[in-house]
Amino acid sequence: MKTSIKSYLVFLLLTVCTISHADEGMWFPQLLQQMNASEMRLKGLQIPIDEIYNINKSSLKDAVVQFGGGCTGELISAQGLLLTNHHCGFSYIQDNSSLDHNYLKDGFWAKTMQEEIPCPGLTATFVISIIDVTAEFNKVLTDDMSEAKRNDLIKELSAQLEKRAVEGTNYEARVRQFFSGNEFYIITTQTFKDVRLVGAPPSSIGNFGGDSDNWLWPRYTGDFSMFRVYADRENKPSEYKNDNIPFKPKFFFPISISGVQQDDFTMVYGFPGRTQEYISAAAMDLLVNTTDPNRVMVRTERLSIINDAMRSSEAIHIQYAAKQRTLANGWKKWQGEVKGLKQTNAFQRKLDFEIDFQNWAEKTPVTKLKYGNVLASLEKLYTKNHSYLQANDFYSEAVFGIEVINYVNGFKTLMDVVNEDQPDIKKIHDEAEKINKGTANYFKDYHLPTDQLMMSSLLSLFDKQVVDSLKPKYITDLREKYNGDFTKLASDIFKKSIFVSQEKMNDILTDFNVKKGRKIKNDPCYILTNELATFYRTTIASKATQVVNEAGRLNRIFLAGQRQMQPDKKFYPDANSTLRLTYGQVRGYEPRDGVNYLYQTTLDGLIEKYIPGNEEFDVPAKLLALYNAKDYGRYGVNGKMSVAFLATNHTTGGNSGSPVLNAKGQLIGTNFDRVWEGTMSDVLFNPEVCRNITLDIRYTLFIVEKFAGAQRLIDEMEILN
Ligand code: ASP
Repeated sequence: MKTSIKSYLVFLLLTVCTISHADEGMWFPQLLQQMNASEMRLKGLQIPIDEIYNINKSSLKDAVVQFGGGCTGELISAQGLLLTNHHCGFSYIQDNSSLDHNYLKDGFWAKTMQEEIPCPGLTATFVISIIDVTAEFNKVLTDDMSEAKRNDLIKELSAQLEKRAVEGTNYEARVRQFFSGNEFYIITTQTFKDVRLVGAPPSSIGNFGGDSDNWLWPRYTGDFSMFRVYADRENKPSEYKNDNIPFKPKFFFPISISGVQQDDFTMVYGFPGRTQEYISAAAMDLLVNTTDPNRVMVRTERLSIINDAMRSSEAIHIQYAAKQRTLANGWKKWQGEVKGLKQTNAFQRKLDFEIDFQNWAEKTPVTKLKYGNVLASLEKLYTKNHSYLQANDFYSEAVFGIEVINYVNGFKTLMDVVNEDQPDIKKIHDEAEKINKGTANYFKDYHLPTDQLMMSSLLSLFDKQVVDSLKPKYITDLREKYNGDFTKLASDIFKKSIFVSQEKMNDILTDFNVKKGRKIKNDPCYILTNELATFYRTTIASKATQVVNEAGRLNRIFLAGQRQMQPDKKFYPDANSTLRLTYGQVRGYEPRDGVNYLYQTTLDGLIEKYIPGNEEFDVPAKLLALYNAKDYGRYGVNGKMSVAFLATNHTTGGNSGSPVLNAKGQLIGTNFDRVWEGTMSDVLFNPEVCRNITLDIRYTLFIVEKFAGAQRLIDEMEILN
C-alpha cells in the first residue's frame, strides 16, 4: 500500500513536472503523433492529432501560411480571406498610404472585392509536406570530411531531391537543416503571389500603445489586418492579374467566440523565425554582453533621429513609419532579452550544464574523441575573434544603417562590370535598369535631412566604437581632415553627391553607360561607401562568416552530444522559419515579487489608458462611442469586451499573426507578441514568466463588424457561438 502511494506520488510529481515544463518547444507538426500526442491530450486537446497535420486529407495546416516571408497568417473563409497582425501588414498599409488617404492613420476597409488593393511582392506560402530525408544525407556525409566537401555534397543532394519533389507540380521544395545540421527535411510548399489588402484598423487601434506598450503586459493593441489570397481560374498561384479570383483553400479556420478561461488548452500554429536554445555559454556571453548591447546602442541613436523627424511632419511620419517599427521592435526586445537572461542567471546555468556535459563526454574514449574538445573550441573561437564580431555589429547596424550607404552599396555589381577591361554593355544596361526600377520606391520613403543627420551621427558613433585597425584608412584620414567634425563631413558629402537626389539618379541611370559609370566613381558618397563596403567585405564580414561557419560545425557536434547525453529528453529543433506547433495553456504570471498578472485584458483598461491626441494612446471617437454604449454585439460578455489574453505557448518573431487555436482546433485569436519578462525565450524558456500575447478574436470581430461596419467580411466567416 505504502509503496503504491509512494509510486503514485512519484507519478503525480513527474506528470506535474512534465506539464508545467512542457510548454517549452516548437514542435514539428509531422511528428506530433509520436512526440507530443499524449501530453497534448493530457493538457486538453480534443481533436485527433492527424487533423492538425495531414498530407493525405485536409488538415489545420492547410489554413496556415507564411505571410510575406517573415510572419504567419491564417485563412478564415472559403474565399481566401486571410487574417494576420497589423504589424505584419504594416509595410503594405504604409506603402498604400499618402497624405490624401492615410490608411495608417485612418484605417482602410475595402467595401467590395474590387476595392481590395494589390500588394506587389507580397506572398502567402502554404506547406504541402515535410519529409525527413536525413537518411539520404547520412549515406553521403561522414564525420571526418571537410566542411567544404560536406557543404558541396549537401548542396548537390539537396538540388536533386528538390527537383524530384516538385516534378509535374506548381510547388516549390527546399531541403532545410535542423538540430544544427544533424537532421534534414525536405519541405514542399505552394506560394501565392497575388495577395491583396482587404482591411486594417487605424493605427490608434492596430498599434494602440505603440512602442511604449510593445513587448508588455497588460496589453490593448488591436494588432490585426486582413488580406485576401487570389488565384487563377484553376485555383492555382498566379502573378497579380485583374481577373484572378479569390483562392479556395483546402481548409479555413472556424472561429469560436466562446472566449477563454484560465488553464484552457491553446496551440499556436505558425512559422517561428529564429531561436538558439542549445548554444554554448560562450555564445550566450557574446549575445548578452556584446551583440545585444551593441545593437541597442546604435538603434537608440537611429530611433532618436527618426522619431524626431516623424514627429515633425505627417509626410515624414508616413515615410518612416515601417522602418521605425522594425528598428524599435528589435531595440526593445534585445533589452528585455538581456535583462531576462541576467535575472535568471542563464549564463551560470549554461556553465553548470557544460560541466556535466564535459564530465559525460570524458567518460568513454569514443565520446571523448567526439565531444571532448567541442566546448573549449567554441570558447576559443569567440574569444579569439571578439574584436571582429564587435566591429561587425557596428558595420551592419551603424554603417549600413545609413540609408544612402545602403543604396549606393546596391551599385556594386553594376560598378564591377563598369570596371572590367572590356565591360559587357548589355550587362551594364540590364543592371542599371534593375536599379532604376527600384529607385522611385526607395526615394518615396527617403527624407534627405534625416539621412544626413543619420550619417553624421552614425559615422561618429562607428568611429568611436570600432578600433582604427578595423576600419579603412580612408575613414581615419577623413576624420583627421575634418578634425572629427562628422556633421561637416556629412554636410559636404550630401551637398556634392548625386545619390541623394532622385532626379539626378534617374538621369544617370537612364541610358547608363561606361562613361556615366566613371562619373559615379568620383562621387564622394560612392567613394565613401566603396571604401567602407570593400573593407567590410574583405576584412570583417569574411572573418565573421568564418566564425559563423566554424561555430555552425561546432554547434552541430555539441548538439549531437547533448542529444546523446540525454536520451530521454524530448528535443525540439530551434526555430528556422519553418512550420511548427506549440501548445500550452491560458495563464497569467507573476512578473515580480508581489505582483500577479491576470490572463486577460478588456476594453475598460484600454479606455483607462486613453490620452486624447497622444500619438500612442489616442482612441478613435467611434470606438469611444461603442464603449460608452457598451455596444459589443455578440462579442461582449456581461458588458465587458475582451481585448487580449496570455498563454504559456513558446513563440517567437515569425509567430506574429499565427492562429491561436482552442482544444477543438477552432480559432480563438491571433498571436502578436510576448511579455517583457519572457523575451529571453529565444535563448532560454522560463516557464514561470514566458507568455505569448494573443489578440482575442472577439475583439477583432467586434472591430470589423461594429467599428468598421465591414459586415461583408463577417458574412464570409464561419463563426461558432
Ligand atoms: N511581436 C513580436 C515580433 O514582432 C512577436 C514575438 O516575437 O513574439 O517579433
